[in-house]
Amino acid sequence: MSDVSQSIQPAPQVIPRSEHNISRADISKNALKVLYRLKDAGYQAFLVGGSVRDLLLGRHPKDFDVATDAHPEDVRALFGNCRLIGRRFRLAHVRFGREIIEVATFRGLGQEEQGSGHREISAETGRLISDNVYGSIEEDVWRRDFTANSLYYNIADYSVWDFTGGGADVQARRLRLIGDPETRFREDPVRMLRAARFAAKLEFAIEDGCAALVPRLAHLVDGVPAARLFEEFLKLFQTGHALASYRQLRRLGLFEHLFPPTARWLGPGGDARERFLEEALANTDARIAEDRPVTPMFLLGVFLWGPVADRAEALGRDGMTDFQALAVAAADITREQTERLAVPRRYSIPMREMLQLQSRFDKTRGARALAFIESKRFRAAYDLLVLRARVGNADPELAHWWTTLQQLPPEQQRHELGLDRPGAQGRRRRRGPRRGGAPREAAATDQHQGG
Ligand code: ATP
Ligand code: MG
Repeated sequence: MSDVSQSIQPAPQVIPRSEHNISRADISKNALKVLYRLKDAGYQAFLVGGSVRDLLLGRHPKDFDVATDAHPEDVRALFGNCRLIGRRFRLAHVRFGREIIEVATFRGLGQEEQGSGHREISAETGRLISDNVYGSIEEDVWRRDFTANSLYYNIADYSVWDFTGGGADVQARRLRLIGDPETRFREDPVRMLRAARFAAKLEFAIEDGCAALVPRLAHLVDGVPAARLFEEFLKLFQTGHALASYRQLRRLGLFEHLFPPTARWLGPGGDARERFLEEALANTDARIAEDRPVTPMFLLGVFLWGPVADRAEALGRDGMTDFQALAVAAADITREQTERLAVPRRYSIPMREMLQLQSRFDKTRGARALAFIESKRFRAAYDLLVLRARVGNADPELAHWWTTLQQLPPEQQRHELGLDRPGAQGRRRRRGPRRGGAPREAAATDQHQGG
């Protein structure tokens, strides 16, 4: 990218409508409106990025991004429902109800956020950086990450413009960085996480030279702002391919830079610990496939459970009660984790509670057990218990007992907990409360992610 010669490029290969499969029927009506209105006003207008890639693959794009030579103020003048965001590089957001079409003006080569080679390039060419903020499509293409993400769909004649060989790479399901891979990863280490994500989501192969670099450069992820890493976490783990993302991150040596306490606890993996994580990840994917809600707090809690339990055990040996030890351990490990990922408090607080509450499952008698089962956090804590039990990290009979207890009518629950006799403080735990029929295992595998 900092190689100047790359910015001097021949014309794009133009793939005409007759030679690709992108149909307007598969493009959001609102994106089409934006594209046509820009075109009718005399501007260039392209669909760009992931949407073009996904359409070529026959996938349904998550969102539709537009690139144009119109400046943000020009875009705003064309659309009433438009807001400009960003300071240095302004983007236009055109809103249609819940859908937002992001319209970006072509970027020049002089305005990368992090001081990279581009400023020098612009100094050499003698152009002022402020003049370089916006550029032409020929410049815009080189700041993009992968060739598959650098295709432009032209609304003027429905052709696809390919400057980088991205069309062939999409066909071959190949992830190839534009420019020199090491330079591009150093410029923005998040591109390594994006490589893992696209490999997982699209089942693309990361080009050999590029994949081999990642383990060596993975440590650069440590310098990425924690807020940006949380955003990447959501895209990696809450969009239906969490298990594949996890495997890519492990393979590429990136996981330990996102989840240091979990990676320490896992060690080389391949055992029950790894199975515990993989079960939870597969379960999250299954929920998303079924259109059921997920919350990041559950998966984050699963990632942290192992290290929290280890720390709590050590604290217990120093004389703390189980509940105290778990509370302190959960607070410590959460603090360490949130230095890396800026987990919003609306997730980290319930997550810590869910971890702390694991000690409450041993108390199977009395009013506190009843209060527990009726509490707001019970369901998530219980789902974690079930997951633990499935991989031998908790007593399966205990998990079963709580599963069955939940299904009893209130009267019988009180009876089971020893609360139906005056002055009774419960009775000895029997394995499995009485209940007609077989236990509903389905309930036990339904992890609570509803938030
Ligand atoms: P998704 O399907 O996840 O939305 P996407 O490719 O559209 O995938 P976005 O994060 O929406 O990814 O970014 C849109 C486009 O912006 C990308 O296709 C790519 O061209 C460019 N881009 C995004 N992030 C980077 C980055 N870190 N470095 C270079 N280019 C990037
Ligand atoms: Mg996108």
